[in-house]
Amino acid sequence: MKSSLLADLNQEQQNAVSTDSQYTLVLAGAGSGKTRVLVHRIAWLCLEKHYPAGSIFAVTFTNKAAAEMQERIQALIGEGHFNGMWVGTFHGLAHRLLRIFAKQAGLPTNFQLIDNDDQNRLIKRIFKERKIDEKQWSSKECVGFISTQKEHGLRAKDIAIDDPKTAMWQKIYIDYQAICDRVGYVDFSEIILRTYELLKNNQEALTYCHQRFSNILVDEFQDTNYIQYQLVKILSGHTANVMIVGDDDQSIYSWRGANADNLQLFINDYADTEIIRLEQNYRSTGSILQLANALIANNTNRLGKNLWTQSDLGEETAVYVGFNDIDEGRFVIGQIKKLHDDKVKYRDCAILYRNNAQSRLLEDTLLQTGIAYQIYGSIRFYERQEVKLALAYLRLLHDHNNDNALELVINTPTRGIGEVTLNKIRQLARTQNQSMWQTIIQAISMKAITPRQSSGLARFIELIQSIYQDVAALPFYQQLDRIIKVSGIYEMYEQEAGIKGQSRLENLDELVSAAEQFYQQHDKQTSKSLNDDELVDVQNASTLNVLELFLSYTSLEGKENKKNTDSVQLMTLHSAKGLEFDHVFIVGLEEGLFPAQRSIADPQKMEEERRLAYVGITRARKHLTLSLSELRRLYGKEERNLPSRFLAELPQALLQDLSYRRSANFSKSPSGDALNGNEQNKQFIDERKASFIKSESNNQGYTLGRKVVHKRFGEGTIINLDGEGEHRRVQIAFVNEGIKWLVIKLANLTLL
Ligand code: ATP
Ligand code: MG
Repeated sequence: MKSSLLADLNQEQQNAVSTDSQYTLVLAGAGSGKTRVLVHRIAWLCLEKHYPAGSIFAVTFTNKAAAEMQERIQALIGEGHFNGMWVGTFHGLAHRLLRIFAKQAGLPTNFQLIDNDDQNRLIKRIFKERKIDEKQWSSKECVGFISTQKEHGLRAKDIAIDDPKTAMWQKIYIDYQAICDRVGYVDFSEIILRTYELLKNNQEALTYCHQRFSNILVDEFQDTNYIQYQLVKILSGHTANVMIVGDDDQSIYSWRGANADNLQLFINDYADTEIIRLEQNYRSTGSILQLANALIANNTNRLGKNLWTQSDLGEETAVYVGFNDIDEGRFVIGQIKKLHDDKVKYRDCAILYRNNAQSRLLEDTLLQTGIAYQIYGSIRFYERQEVKLALAYLRLLHDHNNDNALELVINTPTRGIGEVTLNKIRQLARTQNQSMWQTIIQAISMKAITPRQSSGLARFIELIQSIYQDVAALPFYQQLDRIIKVSGIYEMYEQEAGIKGQSRLENLDELVSAAEQFYQQHDKQTSKSLNDDELVDVQNASTLNVLELFLSYTSLEGKENKKNTDSVQLMTLHSAKGLEFDHVFIVGLEEGLFPAQRSIADPQKMEEERRLAYVGITRARKHLTLSLSELRRLYGKEERNLPSRFLAELPQALLQDLSYRRSANFSKSPSGDALNGNEQNKQFIDERKASFIKSESNNQGYTLGRKVVHKRFGEGTIINLDGEGEHRRVQIAFVNEGIKWLVIKLANLTLL
């Protein structure tokens, strides 16, 4: 009898799931079931081939994808069988290995993960020490340089120097790494490189991995970078079974060192790789798939795939050209509201955008409309200012010598400790080779600083010490709660006006409950794992402090909160990879935004933008909406953008224009003469401004973009004005009622 694990799979998928080949590549387009194959393969290995769960090492690309994969595996094999399986991102899994083998990797057991901001701060400190002019040299660029080197597996000594800049960056890389190694800081790229080096140089760690992980599986392989691929290779040795799945058309991370050529390299490195292609798409309607296929056909550099579906054409894809970005956002959210009225769940609707900065306006509109939403991937929960601040207090409480934490909290909220004082302390700390905390105490007692400087610092030291005495006996989540209240940060955010301050306070509350949850879970896990065969893990679990684990967890994992509330999903196109939603809205389809300005002149970057659009379109299951706006205010500047060339590349017959002006002609390529850059732009904006001024003088307050409320139609935005005096009319895009012209005198509108 056929295993039930194969029941809902087509022939090729079945072949992949049940293959006996040691090396397998599943190469297939979007929505063809690659991830599904991976999940079923894992279940197959456990249930049919009787591998222990602990033998599985499965890598996905985002935390959200990993959580989903874990859920799907558990559903197939039952929770009881799942214990000991490693499913996560490259960073998450490598971090886990480093925690187990910290000593062998040359790290202190309580090593600490640092993020981009921390890195930048460190580099700036080195600039100062080396007297490097910050105006001439960019610390951010240097952070980028170091990350790129690490992604290519290069230490400072391995770098080939061919110009003065590289020579400078190399020196800083040396200093930077020396500090990190001395203090026990590990940055994101270091996690992978360190793990790779650990396995290369330490037999104990390598043997552990080889004995344990006999099945390595990697999703989204087209987006692995050099060092990640090396890690896969060394981890699998000669005996493990390796299955990788990927799609060259969805390679969208080359700007971060990813290399779709790794697919080809894999085939070369493992000559007996079985290649399986999947061609049936199960995700999207026929018309969505046709759009995606037509778009990606404009790329030249492809391995080439055929993707078809049995599904009907389904609904047409809607296109909306907003008057401005506010109008565009209101349209999108209005549509979502309509869907919700028709019993569609908010969580089945996703809004995708090119840049993180685009989310704010959408967030504002959602907040005003009272619709719950959730943002993925962008400013991750634990990277938010208020969350980092509270965690830094917690860190400092337990490790007074942690300079990074001290720097973050010492004058937030303000305590009158100025930059001059801090510089003095930094300098003393450096010369005496001790932490800032120790230096402050010494400086106060030896009167090395002025009485005024001293009093601010003394108050700070007392504050931390008294909080410590107060909370030391409590579990750490309660400590966190107290710190937030006593340190003054709660008050500080209370005083911050509006939605921002409110959401910061909510985040702080959320942080305490996240800490509590972590505490409870970890307690359970430690006792459970005593029955487990994970010997090394157990040893470490008992010696590792729960707090330490929590702190490193918070610097690594994105917090995907409000999991159970029904909320609209907001994310960048990049973080939507691998996911699917019934209703997808891609916003901001404008030249200069998507495709991004910096990609327009470079054919290779342009192809990557197109792949990103392909990823976006193929997230949709039932319905897709594409939108853009004529006027957009971004980074404080008003711009008029032309429709994205990607719109012109789509079969126009499959598009339905819902715009209020119906003037858009997407089939015109933006590279033609329609694009006469600045002149037209200026003229257009001037015209709008003129009508704006006119309207101001005629009818006070009725201006373009202004929000209004109508008794029956509800809330809307003014998108056009016309006529004079009593006949003056406004065109309004209502959130729920579509677009209407109304005579101001009769409409009885309330201006917001
Ligand atoms: P992407 O490239 O976007 O990551 P993918 O190739 O990983 O896509 P999946 O997410 O695995 O595709 O599958 C897409 C959708 O199709 C999922 O909802 C999945 O459950 C469904 N699906 C895949 N194969 C089948 C099948 N044989 N029968 C029914 N549904 C299927
Ligand atoms: Mg997938």
